Amino acid sequence: MLWLIYTTGECNLKCSYCGGSFSPNIVPWKVKYDLNVLKEMIEADSEAVIIFYGGEPLLNPEFIEDIMDEIQARRFGIQTNGTKIDLLPEKYWKKMDVVLLSIDGRKQLTDRFRGKGTYDSVLKSLIKLNSIGISKIIARMTVTQYTDIYEDVMHLFSIGFKNVHWQLNAVWSKKWNIKSWAYSSYIPGIRKLGEKFLEEASQGNVLGIIPFLGILSAHYFDGYNGPPCGAGYRSISVSTDGRILACPIAVFERWAVLGDVDKGFKFKGLEIPEKCKSCEYFRYCGGRCLYSLMEGKNLWGSFYEDLDEITKRTIEEVISLTKYLDHYINEGIISKDQLKYDPTQDSTEVIP
Ligand code: SF4
Ligand code: SF4
Repeated sequence: MLWLIYTTGECNLKCSYCGGSFSPNIVPWKVKYDLNVLKEMIEADSEAVIIFYGGEPLLNPEFIEDIMDEIQARRFGIQTNGTKIDLLPEKYWKKMDVVLLSIDGRKQLTDRFRGKGTYDSVLKSLIKLNSIGISKIIARMTVTQYTDIYEDVMHLFSIGFKNVHWQLNAVWSKKWNIKSWAYSSYIPGIRKLGEKFLEEASQGNVLGIIPFLGILSAHYFDGYNGPPCGAGYRSISVSTDGRILACPIAVFERWAVLGDVDKGFKFKGLEIPEKCKSCEYFRYCGGRCLYSLMEGKNLWGSFYEDLDEITKRTIEEVISLTKYLDHYINEGIISKDQLKYDPTQDSTEVIP
């Protein structure tokens, strides 16, 4: 199971997407529970994947060190803004199986929303982490109306990332005309990325475009039974106050509380809405996102319908690649296993 562990609610940046630190009353900036109790809980799970989360998780490096020293897990990782990596000693970086660095693509785009100098700082971190030999580093983009998905993803590959994931800027942002942008820019960009993916696959290389891999994996292997991130059934988030939540961003919502570190937790069971149950894309999408299933209609109204449409068009573009990929698999140019992807091993969401 995936364990997203908040180390702090504090963040050193103030990106326009989420606005920076949580109020310490909601997500305290220091950990308030006994680590030994959490240790017992996690070690009862032989498949535990621990991902450090925040705020900016590296602002509490001692807690990361304590967990990595004290708790046995099958896999460790971190979601970081990539500007404070020197706070964690190298020996702990060497034990990280996956590092997700927030960067939106080209420099101007990244600095526009994350603050001047962020791009250079993340790039420096990428070089250092690559030199340490971390096996998997994922660029984690937030995609806005200013993103050119093809150009920005390819830029990230060109500067040394081997894996790129993205999410659409939809939860915290003001509404924007996402549908018209999707048809004029995003979906054509996905198509172009698909062509690049095939070009590489024809040479035996599988590009680490995580949304593609997550969708293709559901095609060639098991489909999703719920949101690919695992929220509410294969993943939990432990807040610094000890609350155990179904989704890491649902820190205010009562439906998300599954228990706490002291008393334990219980999954509530997923309630997949009828429109998803009967949707032909459910196996690839799993209902997309628990948070949006619970809150989407109230928060976004018709914007929510637009996201649904964009999800369907994205899946169609990716699935259209399979007729060529089938051929490459049959010819032995790539193996089917190269397309197998479990998002809960990396804490990615698959559907943008
Ligand atoms: S595409 Fe939309 S309707 Fe279909 S499963 Fe995903 S979220 Fe549900
Ligand atoms: S995809 Fe949705 S449910 Fe999953 S972690 Fe992100 S916000 Fe939460």
